[in-house]
Parts: sequence; structure tokens; C-alpha cells
Amino acid sequence: MARADFTPADRGELYIGGQWRPARGGGTIAVEDPFTEQVVAHVPAGTPADVDEAVAAAKSAFEPWAALAPSVRAEHLSRLHQSLANRSDQIATTVTGELGTPIKVSHRVQTGLPLTVLDGYIRLAAEAAQEGEIGNSLILREPIGVVGAITPWNYPLHQVMAKVAAALAAGCTVVLKPSELTPLVAYLLFDAVHEAGLPPGVVNLVPGTGPEVGQAIAGHSDVDMVSFTGSTATGRRISHLAADRIAKVSLELGGKSANVILDDADLARAVKTGVGNAFLNAGQTCTAWTRMLVPATQYEQACELAVQAAKAYAMGDPFDETTRLGPLASATQRDRVHGFVRQGRAEGATLLTPDDVPDRGYFVAPTVLADVDPKSTVAQEEIFGPVLAVIPFGDDDEAVAIANDSRYGLAGAVWSGDPDRALAVAKRLRTGAVDVNGGAFNPLAPFGGYKQSGLGRELGVFGLEEFQQVKAVQR
Ligand code: NAD
Repeated sequence: MARADFTPADRGELYIGGQWRPARGGGTIAVEDPFTEQVVAHVPAGTPADVDEAVAAAKSAFEPWAALAPSVRAEHLSRLHQSLANRSDQIATTVTGELGTPIKVSHRVQTGLPLTVLDGYIRLAAEAAQEGEIGNSLILREPIGVVGAITPWNYPLHQVMAKVAAALAAGCTVVLKPSELTPLVAYLLFDAVHEAGLPPGVVNLVPGTGPEVGQAIAGHSDVDMVSFTGSTATGRRISHLAADRIAKVSLELGGKSANVILDDADLARAVKTGVGNAFLNAGQTCTAWTRMLVPATQYEQACELAVQAAKAYAMGDPFDETTRLGPLASATQRDRVHGFVRQGRAEGATLLTPDDVPDRGYFVAPTVLADVDPKSTVAQEEIFGPVLAVIPFGDDDEAVAIANDSRYGLAGAVWSGDPDRALAVAKRLRTGAVDVNGGAFNPLAPFGGYKQSGLGRELGVFGLEEFQQVKAVQR
């Protein structure tokens, strides 16, 4: 796909109750292409009045949708999958255009992954156990109700799908607010929803800003659960709003994951894979292994390998097939990341990589920092850009202590020539996921964080159960 295939148009409407209709207010949100730095489209800025209508539509759709046989809900989701798959190329170009993800990654991850997730939920909707027994009790799994879904910009369709597909499969109905930075791909999803003929009100779209639309959803008395992905600060705010009415929240928040490379690991492979993980999507990945922990005895060699690997991340137009590192999503994000790199150097880190960037686009160069103090800002704060901190350790105990010295606990990795030793270290990491020796991402495995990385789990059957509650019927 070439840049010429990215032809976004203004979208003037919201999707509520199975219909496209204008927003109540007259405000709009400009969508920017972070490579050209040009505004390419506008979407409506929804208002709390729009949220009220969307929630009312979701509420009246709930009972009939929840009452459908799970296999019938699965048939609806199958039609949605077909309509979405027909738009694959458009999804990939839209995400590359509005976010800056290199086009190859857009096809594989930004488009392929949400389709895989939806496919998984079609099967789970039909197969997941709805009932069980404990003694004289019949245990029923029932949908929780109306779900408010609020999502960020870094994997804009995947993060929506992880919520919408699981919630719909469980029998819930949904009001979605996508990120104001990347709303266009959500419109493609709702074009597919409309084409697939999902029952009116089952899933509704209200684009807008966090303080207006997001807050109205999180604080709405008829929203039974808020499923949020984004920053820890916003997650905290949403928790407070939901707590007032004891509504359930599920939170997928930030991370500062450690890639622990033990002294008997294949160092070259571990470093190369680790750099690739840290720079995926220009480092705008919540699970990114942004702290590389290497034995002090192999520190210089590891730094050299990391610098070599970073050189392969050619910056450029994300529509160019040879580009491996696109721009960041916005000028604000770029400036924030540059600020962290400056602060890291001020706190004693050494910059090992060149920092020049193309003239146009919100780029941050692939950055490797050495001599990073595990207590320093760049080792503690989520940066959300292509910045890798390399940190030395003495023995396995010290590696575990550094890895766990974080308020986050989302992901991580362990590398060792001895699988038992690697597993022993993996078990000691206080984090929701660990990849041992490059174990592949599993879209059916539970995904979520320990500590301030979140509450609850997404994906697979764990993600489905998040949208259910249990009833005990004694007989
Ligand atoms: P953000 O928290 O600013 O925004 C996320 C969403 O929340 C957006 O839709 C935004 O409009 C909305 N929002 C903002 N303020 C709100 C408020 N007061 N009330 C309700 N909604 C509000 O985060 P972001 O900048 O879009 O995304 C980057 C952050 O998200 C990073 O910190 C990253 O680690 C995190 N993230 C986590 C995961 C995960 O699965 N754990 C995935 C992706 C991103």
C-alpha cells in the first residue's frame, strides 16, 4: 500500500442505536498525519448529551442481546469479522496515516491482530461455559450490562476489539469512545458493524475528548462497567468516577517492563529481540521491554549489540516499505519523549546513539541509553517512545530486584540457556506476563497488569469473564 492509498475524509456523525446521526454539539476534532504534520480529516467532538443517548440505546439493546443464544451472538460476530476483513487494506493504511505505524507492521499487527482477537471471541461466544454446579447451587455466568469502553491511540483497533468483541460475546452492550488522536479506524469498525447488521444499540460510537466524552461515560449512572486502556493517571481518575456508584472497572494501564538477560543466554539474540520489542510501533507499546537488564560482565558487549540493532531502525515515511521506525503519534508525544531523554542524560545516563531525525514528521531517533541508574527517571517512568535503558546487574537476585523495582508490572522477558533457571526467574517477576527466550505473543492468553499497570485481564476466556458476573441459584 502506498501513501496515495490513504485518502481520509471528514466523518461528521456518531453511531447510536444502529444509525449514523449528527452530534448534538457543533465542535470538531482535527485528525493529523504525524508524518506530514497536516490535518487530514475531522470527526465530531461528542458531548455528554450524546453520551446520554448512546447509553440509553445500549441500555435498551441489552436485554434482547443478552437473551440471545451465545451461538446466535457468535453468528453476528462472524458477520462483523467478514465485513471487517473486507476492509483490511483500508484499516492498515488508515492506522499508518493517522498514527504513523510502518505499513508492514500495520498490516500484521494493527490489522491482523484485531481480526485474530475477534475470531477467537466468535469461538468463545459459542463455546464458553455459561453454567456450572456447586453442590445444590446452579452457577450462572451472566453479562454485566452496559459497558463504557475508552481506548488510547497506540493500537487503535486492537484495543477497541479486545473490549468490544469480548463484551459483545459475553452478552453486554457497548458505548465506545476511541482516542481523539486516532478516531478514523474506529469509523471503519462501525462501517463494518452497520454492514454486518448488528442489532441497533448493541454497540455505539461517540468520539470526543477525554474530559468531555470519556468522563461522561465513566461517570454515567447507567454504565455498569468501564473498560479502560490508557495512562495510569487517567485510569485512576476513571476509577474514582466509577467508585461513586460501585461500578466495575477494568484497567489496562502503563508499563516499564524489564528484559532480563541472564549470563548463560544467547546474548546476541536476546539483545536483538529486545531492541525490536522496545522499538515496535516507535516504542508506543504498553508492554515494551524498555529496561534491558544485562550481566555487568557482558555490559559493554550488550551495549554494542544494542547500538548495532538500533541502527537497523530506519526512520522515514511509514508508507515506505523500508521504514522500520515511524514518527510518534503527535508533536506533544515527541516533545515529551525528548524531555525524558534530556532528563536521563542530566541524571547521568550516556546517549549511545545519534539523535538526528528527518526534517518532517514527529520523529524521535532510535535511542539507546547506557549507565542508567535503576532509580533514575528514565528507568522508572513510562516514556512511550523508542528509548531503551540498558542497566547492569550482578547476579540473578539483583536482576529480579531491579526488575521488580517499579510501580508498574505489565510484561517482561527472561533469557537463559537453561529453561528451568529462566522459569524460576520468570516466576519471581511481579508482572502480568513474561516471555521466556522469545516465546511468542499469545492472543488467547490473559493480558493485564500487576501493581499500577492495571486491574483485570483482557483477551481469551479471561477477557470474556471480565464482562460477566456470577449468580448462584440454590435448588
Ligand atoms: P490517556 O490516558 O491520555 O488516554 C486514553 C483514553 O482516555 C483516551 O481515549 C482519552 O481521550 C481518554 N481520557 C483522557 N482523559 C480522560 C478523563 N479524564 N476521563 C475519561 N477518559 C479520559 O492515554 P493515551 O495518551 O491515549 O495513551 C498512552 C498511555 O496509555 C500510555 O501510558 C500507555 O502505557 C497506556 N496504554 C496502556 C495499555 C495497556 O494495555 N496496558 C495499552 C495502550 C496504552
